[in-house]
Amino acid sequence: MIGLKPLLSFICIVLIVLTGCGEKREKQEKPDEWHKPSQADFAIPPYARYLEGIKICLDPGHGGQAHLPNYKRGPTGLREAEVNLRVALYLHEFLTEVGAIVFMTRTDDSFVSISDRSKLANKNVVDFFISLHHNFFSNPETNYTSTWYHQDADDSRTSLDLARYVQQSVVDTLQLPQFPPTGLYSDRLVIPSGFGVLRQTKRPAILCEASFYSDPEEEQRLKEKSYNKREAYGYFLGIARYVAAGLPKGILLTPAPESSVETKTPRIQIRVADGLHERGAWMLKRQQVFSDSIRVKLDGTVVPHQYLRTEDLIVVTLPKPLSNGVHLVETDLVNYYGNHSLPNKQWFKVVPPAAKLKLRAWTKTLPPDGASYVGITATALDKNGLPIADDEPIHAQTSLGRLAETESTSQNGEARFYLHTDATQPQSGRAQGESCLQRQISNHHHPF
Ligand SMILES: [Zn+2]
Repeated sequence: MIGLKPLLSFICIVLIVLTGCGEKREKQEKPDEWHKPSQADFAIPPYARYLEGIKICLDPGHGGQAHLPNYKRGPTGLREAEVNLRVALYLHEFLTEVGAIVFMTRTDDSFVSISDRSKLANKNVVDFFISLHHNFFSNPETNYTSTWYHQDADDSRTSLDLARYVQQSVVDTLQLPQFPPTGLYSDRLVIPSGFGVLRQTKRPAILCEASFYSDPEEEQRLKEKSYNKREAYGYFLGIARYVAAGLPKGILLTPAPESSVETKTPRIQIRVADGLHERGAWMLKRQQVFSDSIRVKLDGTVVPHQYLRTEDLIVVTLPKPLSNGVHLVETDLVNYYGNHSLPNKQWFKVVPPAAKLKLRAWTKTLPPDGASYVGITATALDKNGLPIADDEPIHAQTSLGRLAETESTSQNGEARFYLHTDATQPQSGRAQGESCLQRQISNHHHPF
């Protein structure tokens, strides 16, 4: 008897464990329990207020192709284009209600080219772009949500931040029975060069295939406006959560954005902004940005920098003096929510004074016919003998003849002028030019 007691208790334990496993397995095999979404009440969460002023381009996929037989249609003929549009219009309502600025690539069943869709986003410099679609597959049982980004994840970090939030929220809202292993896909999987609309959009851009209209049951649901609205609500929550997580950025302090500096070694300072402090929240004084995530690009090339944490300041170490002309500064940052900065290029211009001006007439003599003219190339160089910055004005004046234009702009330090002869004047003389970039240089005379 003494030996039996432990055995009985062992059996009990085994039974309990087995029962537990059985229950678990049964739950996994019953996806229907998940696929009974609770009624969405479409409540606007308080964090959606951070959408105010955010510029978003919504792109309902396709349109204007109803005349094409069987083109992107479900088993009973529901057109993907009309579902995409209904969802986008509901989403537009949710977003504008909280003050987002929304651009729609279409608001009716008209055809809009891929490049026109991207152009709308690029022209308006939107914060991000979302293309709304529904999927098709030959297997009628396939039905899940997927979100797509352009090309390589390394080059689409900001798009992926948005994609994660949208994917998760649409999944949670539609509660489809299937979930793919990742849910986030590169458009390279379908087309080597990626989806045209993501490739041509220069702002962070994603494309979401919310569900499969090729699934007969899903097609029936997609016909219902309340279901379309629920999908839009899923997008809305995802977008709102993404924006609530803060959009960090680097702000060029010196040289001032869009200003000109004479020095070739300016002190480039960038202020770090996590996208959260500006809300006046109670938090540590230091901007909530991972310091090792900071990357500064000058004219597209990563340059070394120093991050002064206490001042939240980035100071760029210039590898060599800058060339004359426009320079682009970009800063990549990641805040503690994991959000990457939106692409933001700021510029300043290096414009050293001209120290030397050369004039060259294209010919030495002109016929005294009163109609001929001579081209004169003016070359302005800085003190290092390098051409001055592009697009700077160069003025010219003449003591005889007539200049077609007295002002031209520099390209590679050069500007061209055209001197017309005067029939009553002698046909040889001197041209004189002056660059307005330098004030002390004496007028330079060139015989022709
Ligand atoms: Zn589509």
